[in-house]
Amino acid sequence: MSNRFERKFMLVAGGNSGIGLTMARLLASEGASVFITGGRQAELDEAIKEIGTNVIGIQGDVTKPADLDRLFAQIQETSGRLDVVVANAGSGKFVPFGSYTEEHLDATFAVNIKGTVFTVQKALPLLPNGASVVIIGSIAGVKGMPAFGVYAATKAALRSFVRTWSVDLKAKGIRFNIVSPGYIPTPGYDLAGITLESLEPVIPQIPLGRVGTTHEIASAVAFLASSESSYVQASELVVDGGLTEV
Ligand code: NDP
Repeated sequence: MSNRFERKFMLVAGGNSGIGLTMARLLASEGASVFITGGRQAELDEAIKEIGTNVIGIQGDVTKPADLDRLFAQIQETSGRLDVVVANAGSGKFVPFGSYTEEHLDATFAVNIKGTVFTVQKALPLLPNGASVVIIGSIAGVKGMPAFGVYAATKAALRSFVRTWSVDLKAKGIRFNIVSPGYIPTPGYDLAGITLESLEPVIPQIPLGRVGTTHEIASAVAFLASSESSYVQASELVVDGGLTEV
């Protein structure tokens, strides 16, 4: 196993489940000291046990700026800097257009947009020149998907933020990129009401003929976190088996 992330401090927001947990495990296994966050304390404890070493868990709800202040104060006290921030906390539900409610819009925008924007904004003072910020988007933000409009809008907005922040914060020498996963079965599917059976009609449309794994997303994030991607800025890495390109 390589030690390419030795002496690097990283934050994986939403690191106690699914894609975020696999990322945190991969980054820690390559030497990074990884802070993971999540709203659910029990899942956070479980994730820390599973990752084993090089990991610190901090509970916090990304929709609550006060939680983020507390969380970044703890990171400041522990490491004093973050070389990599992965804004992965997110959620979405299938809701047809006619059934959109104010609650659905507010909840989805609160986690995916407000949570991501304030995570990055509050992390900024800890980011040195050369730091890498990786946002987790979705192919829903790239192509039309039935009944996923509100979630899709939030993920499309994140694609836009990555471009804007790249120019707004040019002087800081921080890289901003977005990884947009395709279909990756995780515990999040239970929350969104997606079953493996419901994905069966989609599989033949995917050029690689299968859904992806959390490890395949984590590997893409690790590339953007690493110095191997030092000239990659304001880009989107779509990891979807080719689905959005056909
Ligand atoms: P999971 O539900 O397994 O993970 C979601 C993570 O986000 C959890 O750690 C969860 O922690 C955290 N989170 C959600 N809401 C909050 C909140 N308010 N405050 C703090 N943390 C929060 O789902 P996935 O692993 O599938 O999703 C990870 C990311 O990948 C999301 O941004 C999702 O939109 C994106 N994505 C996933 C795809 C897939 O097919 N799985 C496809 C495209 C994008 P907790 O519940 O403890 O709060």
